[in-house]
Amino acid sequence: MADDARCPDCGVTLAEADLFTGQGDLKVRTETDEDGVLAAVGVAKALEVSPRRCPDCGLVRFYAEE
Ligand SMILES: [Zn+2]
Repeated sequence: MADDARCPDCGVTLAEADLFTGQGDLKVRTETDEDGVLAAVGVAKALEVSPRRCPDCGLVRFYAEE
């Protein structure tokens, strides 16, 4: 979790943001995990996406959560 994530431009702590897609949760598909159980069957992992927004400049960053 990136609780102390900071804006690279302003240096202030990013706030949690709520992302709307209207089509379910946004996810990130990773490369196949070499050490994971899913690698045996060739399945990539799907990670939840956690958006953070800068309250000063509005920059939004996405963090893929394990
Ligand atoms: Zn900023």
